[in-house]
Amino acid sequence: MFEFVCEKLVPGCTAKEQADTRDEALDKAERHMVDHHDRMSGSDLRAEVDIAVLRLSH
Ligand SMILES: [Zn+2]
Repeated sequence: MFEFVCEKLVPGCTAKEQADTRDEALDKAERHMVDHHDRMSGSDLRAEVDIAVLRLSH
């Protein structure tokens, strides 16, 4: 499992998204940033959200 923790990018945002694969977590993270933080989707955003996607140990 992978988890996107928005607070790592946007302090104060409590949104988290979980997914089975890293790619899927990145998709959800990107969509969240576009929908909730007025970001433009694209490779720059994809690279940015990558640091906020964590692998869960279980
Ligand atoms: Zn957020």
